[in-house]
Amino acid sequence: MSAFTIDLPNTVALPVVGTEAKFPVRRVYCIGRNYAAHAVEMGHDPDREPPFFFQKNPDNLDASGEFPYPPKTSDVHHEIEMAVMLKSGGDNIAIADALSHVYGYALSLDMTRRDLQGEQKKMGRPWEIGKAFERSAPVGVIHPVAEVGHLDQGRVELKVNGEVKQEGDLNQMIWKVPEMISYLSDYFTLAAGDVILSGTPAGVGPVSKGDEMDVSIAGLGSMKVPVV
Ligand code: MN
Repeated sequence: MSAFTIDLPNTVALPVVGTEAKFPVRRVYCIGRNYAAHAVEMGHDPDREPPFFFQKNPDNLDASGEFPYPPKTSDVHHEIEMAVMLKSGGDNIAIADALSHVYGYALSLDMTRRDLQGEQKKMGRPWEIGKAFERSAPVGVIHPVAEVGHLDQGRVELKVNGEVKQEGDLNQMIWKVPEMISYLSDYFTLAAGDVILSGTPAGVGPVSKGDEMDVSIAGLGSMKVPVV
């Protein structure tokens, strides 16, 4: 007799540079408005108010290299972000200890059904239908800390069809990676397999089927993600 009543769901597992072994995903946290210029473009005060987070589902992360245009929207926006993968966790992690929990970093996109998110915001409702849809987070291969160290500065750039749409620098993040880990761990128990998307610089905008996004972060290389 099987130990489970139904077939086990797949474990989401992401590729890692330099090894056949994959990184298994447990949870996905995303920070909102973490670059001042993006907060301003979304109509908010860029002052350092407490950070806020929403979540995507583990299987929203997609390393296929393609972004399928999702249903029920006519305004899907690109948001280039750095993904932070944890190898361990805990509660109440001190800022000074936070980076010891990082396994590695990867390019990622927090694709957003902006029209649906806008309606949800207006009504004071949760953001899932705008943010946590199928394959909403294209992600690149993971670069382990052992290979690239910790990334706290470097150019962040997204092009659509060769034209630069978003640009910034990791050093412009309002809440730095150690602060995000520490803050989250005061509210949730963090653990190995957790992923944090660290926010997007200014310049978000729509994509259409047939477009090609080209995302790059200094130290993590680049990846092309066609909208199909
Ligand atoms: Mn985002």
